[in-house]
Amino acid sequence: MRAANSIDIARWCARQGWPVHPLQPMGKIPMPGCSRCRISHPDHVPHSVEECGCLSRRLWCHGFHAATREPSLIDRWWSGNPHMGVGISTGPAELLVVDLDCHADTPPSELSDVLPAFSVPEELLRTVRNGIDAFRVLTQTLDGEDFTDGEHTLAVRTPSGGMHLYFRTPRQTTWRCSTGGNLKGVALGWQLDVRAHGGYIIAPGTQVAAGIYEPVGACRRPARLPGWLAGALERTGHLLTARPPAQRRPRVPNRARMATTSSATTSVWAAKVTATALSDVADCASRSEGTGWNAKVNRAAFTLGGLVAAGFIASQTDAETALLEAALHARPERERQARSIIQSGLVAGQRQPLTPKDR
Ligand SMILES: [Zn+2]
Ligand SMILES: [Zn+2]
Repeated sequence: MRAANSIDIARWCARQGWPVHPLQPMGKIPMPGCSRCRISHPDHVPHSVEECGCLSRRLWCHGFHAATREPSLIDRWWSGNPHMGVGISTGPAELLVVDLDCHADTPPSELSDVLPAFSVPEELLRTVRNGIDAFRVLTQTLDGEDFTDGEHTLAVRTPSGGMHLYFRTPRQTTWRCSTGGNLKGVALGWQLDVRAHGGYIIAPGTQVAAGIYEPVGACRRPARLPGWLAGALERTGHLLTARPPAQRRPRVPNRARMATTSSATTSVWAAKVTATALSDVADCASRSEGTGWNAKVNRAAFTLGGLVAAGFIASQTDAETALLEAALHARPERERQARSIIQSGLVAGQRQPLTPKDR
């Protein structure tokens, strides 16, 4: 497939009913927001997505939170910036995408860690070399149909050789994203992750530095999430609610109130903590020694997770975007590892809201 124009991709997605938001040209990260919304910017002012005026001013701040289906806004965004990529906000699109990775890692030494939530014969597990294999084995075990041929649902080959399988979620259900590249978090299995509510996926046809997200087979419509897969996702902790979220009020911990009405002093404090954490990571690039990157990314993710929980950073998306930028600035070749460290650091950090008196 030729690389399609981003604006055509965005329009196509919107016609499917999927809200879209811009990604950095050739990249997988959302476009940075305005200086007020961008947590790594000196002019950043802590605020929640709900109280941010930028979305009503039709700016693309806060990543997938800005996603839209409005044709006029899509035209405005992408005609002015034709090289931006396209992300789909999976939750509001009522999509669940299973991300089958294809990395060169050796499979877990314990075979049962490949699909730990399921009882699968060892001789099948022994054949697994990547996420595509793992999903086929899961399919076989649960007696499901083979979706990886792209004839029964929208299946998109990723530039790294993995695959995205698209499914329509049943109306009354909300599904969460997987939380771990490692198996300590919520995951369907080894190299098997899920994008749903609170996440985004790179749209079919989008070009990134490593290649194109290319649909395979003939099917261009997501199948309805089949029962066997819904059961497997529920078993692995991906079912968030059996009803659509009511007009979602943000979960505001007590201390966050202080942050949203924060004084200038605490805002300055939060901005400084954020900037220090991010520059610690980004500065690894200028050092010759290769050590310390993991620990610094992890520490920064933990810190920013604490600031998200305390309401100093609008959303986990903003923290993820900024952390990924800093981590890849230092080690451009370690994207997958960065994502995994950032995910687990953010999750851990959010259990401990961070306020000035904690420092
Ligand atoms: Zn903004
Ligand atoms: Zn904002």
